[in-house]
Amino acid sequence: MNSQYTVAKFGGTSVADYPAMHRCAQIINDDSQVRVVVVSASAGVTNHLVTLTQQKADEAQRQQLVQAVIDIQNAILAQLSLDADLAQGFEQTLVEFKSLAALPALSAQQCDEMLSFGERLSSYLFTQVLRNLGLNADRFDVRTVLKTDNRFGKASPDIEATAKAAQQRLVPLLDDKVLVTQGFIGSDVYGQTTTLGRGGSDYSAALLAEAIHAKSVHIWTDVVGIFSTDPRLCVKASPIARLSFDEAAEMATFGAKVLHPATILPASRSGIAVFVGSSRDPQAGGTWIEREKSTAPGIRAVTQRKNQILLTLKSPEMLLASGFLARIFTILSAHNISVDLVTTSEISVAITLDNAQNASRPELEQACLDELSEFCHVTVENNLTLVALIGSEIQLKQHEMNLMKVLSEFNIRLICHGASKHNLCFLVEQSHSDHVVQSIHEKLLESA
Ligand code: ADP
Ligand code: ASP
Ligand code: MG
Repeated sequence: MNSQYTVAKFGGTSVADYPAMHRCAQIINDDSQVRVVVVSASAGVTNHLVTLTQQKADEAQRQQLVQAVIDIQNAILAQLSLDADLAQGFEQTLVEFKSLAALPALSAQQCDEMLSFGERLSSYLFTQVLRNLGLNADRFDVRTVLKTDNRFGKASPDIEATAKAAQQRLVPLLDDKVLVTQGFIGSDVYGQTTTLGRGGSDYSAALLAEAIHAKSVHIWTDVVGIFSTDPRLCVKASPIARLSFDEAAEMATFGAKVLHPATILPASRSGIAVFVGSSRDPQAGGTWIEREKSTAPGIRAVTQRKNQILLTLKSPEMLLASGFLARIFTILSAHNISVDLVTTSEISVAITLDNAQNASRPELEQACLDELSEFCHVTVENNLTLVALIGSEIQLKQHEMNLMKVLSEFNIRLICHGASKHNLCFLVEQSHSDHVVQSIHEKLLESA
């Protein structure tokens, strides 16, 4: 049975400065069902922290980066006076941050510790902003409940352990308090800090909602919902009022940055409604994502994911042979490479791999290519973008003429359709992909 509680998540731009935090606090003040508040690091902070973890930063650069992070906090603190409990925790966190930043090189675990400071600091400040509005708010360290494995940089949650810890430690506090906690971070079985991957605060909010059996998750960001494509790319992109879990999951997986790719998993698993709206303009409405409500068939959005690799494996031995694909996938799996799309012909296989900055897999290693080259001819193409048309019951015939006309203008490298009724995707050269998306949006979505 789900409770009546709502988990509200505020992204980086929503907690970028004091006025932004104040707007978010008003949203919470206006909705008494919000009991868990998940905050991101203030905009720009995680990028600085990432640079701090990179070994190329020298002593002087490290000091500059530390100062840049502190300046962002200080600009907010200039408008606030922290209560003693918050001030003490905040100061202590700054001390830990500076001492870690003084080290010239960090282990993978220390890198995650470093990345955690953005959310840890912003959550102190945001708690005070809520208290100043008269709310009974406390800061809560999410690492005591959000349990993960120890794949630093891209940890996977332990759903059962998280639910158990949240029921014990978090739920009893919710009756009369609003708890402000951190997105993006968690801890492993030894209590070491981990992170869920860039943009992971959306995922944290959905995981916490599942763990406390919340009724809904509200993702407050800088756009008034999920659009037919990235509104930064197409001025005529329009917000979508309702999406099914499947459609939203596909949009997130195929590159709509507005949601971390894994956000919808816990929500759909546990039947928790997800709302996406703008913290700048909460009255403007947004997108509701819920269990499938007989959505009309057709294309609803177009997304893109850059930095894809296309691997083509060719071998005459494949003709009428068995075990060829199994051999390829065994090698890829041994190298921990997860495959995105696959198409095959009689003597060749084409496979796409996600090489985006935060892809969960390592880059394609030479050792893997060498093993594959022992029994087939291997070609690797980089700098490709995966463009995806997302919708429900997509059937080529409905859009055949238009789509083929649009696509014929571009050099399409691979098309995949059929495995899911919710997408049709293809690869194009990265240098053209913005134009491809704009063109598809104009021809297939603006006339609809
Ligand atoms: P936050 O910091 O709140 O998590 P993000 O920057 O991660 O916000 O995500 C919001 C951004 O996602 C928007 O500013 C927009 O440019 C981008 N975006 C990409 N695709 C879409 C889409 N289909 N609908 C809405 N926003 C999108
Ligand atoms: N602060 C983290 C990031 O910038 C997580 C998030 O904002 O969702 O990636
Ligand atoms: Mg985000």
